[in-house]
Amino acid sequence: MQIILATRNRHKAAEICAILTLPGVEWKTADDFPHVLPVVEDGTTFEANAIRKALTWARTTGHWALADDSGLEVDVLCGEPGVRSSRYAGEGADDAANRRKLLADMEGETDRQARFRCVLALAAPDGRVWTATGQCEGRLTTEPRGTGGFGYDSLFIPYGYDKTFAELPPEIKNQISHRARALEAAREQWASILGTVKA
Ligand code: IMP
Repeated sequence: MQIILATRNRHKAAEICAILTLPGVEWKTADDFPHVLPVVEDGTTFEANAIRKALTWARTTGHWALADDSGLEVDVLCGEPGVRSSRYAGEGADDAANRRKLLADMEGETDRQARFRCVLALAAPDGRVWTATGQCEGRLTTEPRGTGGFGYDSLFIPYGYDKTFAELPPEIKNQISHRARALEAAREQWASILGTVKA
């Protein structure tokens, strides 16, 4: 059967494809469905946004859809940027602008504890939906380090490591990240749900 990766973020899609293999599942990407309009992500939780994206894609295309809503939560910023991670420096801001704003907000701050959080939602075209959550604890650097990854990767050192996600090989990020943990939490249940679907 086919499942759409309901995201226009190619980095997220690549990570999900690299991490999650489900028997009999062929991934379709958002590029295969250029007519689907961007989903407004105005929910106040990752879960609300993930469900909205998955359901919108599933209903619009008639296919099963898997959506990811994720972001960075910084303790001294009371969980910001959180659900606003992709637009922290304003609507339409790019990753570099968001990182600059975060570093400016954190200037001089010694408590740099933070976590990435990811909620995945799997939706069927008939409106049923399942979610899974993962998080990855760590701390923020004081300047960008590394060239891999995307978003805030170059500012985030996961616990147990001394390199940022942007310095670590992608194989390591894909074992320990918030996204990897959410996919691991989902894998067994989703394999069994999808196993009952007629292709
Ligand atoms: P979303 O499309 O609202 O889920 O936006 C997620 C945003 O959170 C991204 O644009 C990144 O800024 C950030 N983010 C989520 N996951 C990651 C990750 O794995 N690495 C770096 N940044 C991430």
